[in-house]
Amino acid sequence: MNPAEKNLFENLPEFDNHQSVIFLNDPVTGLRGFIAFHRNSKTVPSFGATRFWQYDSETEAMRDALRLSKLMSYKSALAGLKYGGAKGVIMRDDKFPKDQVLKSYAKRLNELSGRFITGTDVGLDLNDLKKMKEESKYLVGIKSNPEKYTAIGLLVSTEVACKKVFGNENLHGRTFAIQGVGKVGHEFLKIVYKNAGNIYISDTDNERLKLIHRLFPKVIIVKPDTIQKQKVDVYMPCALSYALNKKTVKELNCKIIVGCANNQLESKDIADKIQSRGIFYGPDYVVNAGGLISVVDEYEHTDFNADRIERKVKKIKKTLEEIIKKSDKEKRSPARIADEMAERIINKMK
Ligand code: NAD
Repeated sequence: MNPAEKNLFENLPEFDNHQSVIFLNDPVTGLRGFIAFHRNSKTVPSFGATRFWQYDSETEAMRDALRLSKLMSYKSALAGLKYGGAKGVIMRDDKFPKDQVLKSYAKRLNELSGRFITGTDVGLDLNDLKKMKEESKYLVGIKSNPEKYTAIGLLVSTEVACKKVFGNENLHGRTFAIQGVGKVGHEFLKIVYKNAGNIYISDTDNERLKLIHRLFPKVIIVKPDTIQKQKVDVYMPCALSYALNKKTVKELNCKIIVGCANNQLESKDIADKIQSRGIFYGPDYVVNAGGLISVVDEYEHTDFNADRIERKVKKIKKTLEEIIKKSDKEKRSPARIADEMAERIINKMK
């Protein structure tokens, strides 16, 4: 890397000595995006789902790939997995047919010969995955339904959090505010809807809200910028990054934060502010690891075994309990404790 290139990356706050960043550019098919590798081993691939999103600029897309790939390394480490962290982002441009862009992306995956294994993140669903799978074998999530297992991970994490905050893990009558009712939000609702108290939801996609309201008529729809203000037991950021920031941290009216969104904290000191307000925050990459655990299982086994996956996902409980124990002892936020634990594992892997 020449000095000018080094500056280009090192000036970005998301840069964490990433191993490589691939720029995807095909003016004919409309493919434009990045694949970032945070930590990668020569012997095992790196995992991270692919995001399909409208970014304002290439820099924004690359920054997202950098921060998401780093988070994937931390997630893998604390889930006890040996794989590295990576992430694909595709810049959505409605001038080009989605299928054409995705096929072009899948072909680029083949050039990496299995160094990167990916699936669906925000903006992609099972149908998209099936289309990409026609072009590449380096895609996972068809057999295992990662969203369901992410939701199961959120469930066990919420139970652990309720045990800490309320003294018992029973979710009966608990109230929720869910920001973003996409694939994971939907799966979580399927689990808790029947026995929960009030459930507030928000989404920027009105069609999605209509669908969810039809399926779960008891949910209360609120405006996107008010979801964090709802007085509930559990606030769940399940949309995009930085739901927890300087502004929203003052507005929170919950006892617990457990959600599936990646990179929920705008900065680490937000976690300290949440802690000082007496709110429990379950570190994002710990509580949302169920999807990764399930697709790794799909990668490692030819058979699909729901019990085996569920057993592995439920181990999130033990990890979160360990984080809480340390956090209580040291009176520091669970986010800082989790980061230190993950960094210790990642550094040993080098
Ligand atoms: P999705 O695209 O299916 O759902 C996201 C939803 O959030 C969409 O309905 C979208 O309209 C909505 N949204 C976007 N901006 C919003 C805003 N400002 N306010 C309210 N709603 C908004 O994605 P998903 O697969 O459910 O993933 C959700 C989050 O969880 C993402 O951050 C993703 O990276 C993370 N995650 C997903 C999985 C998984 O298994 N899919 C696993 C781990 C982490």
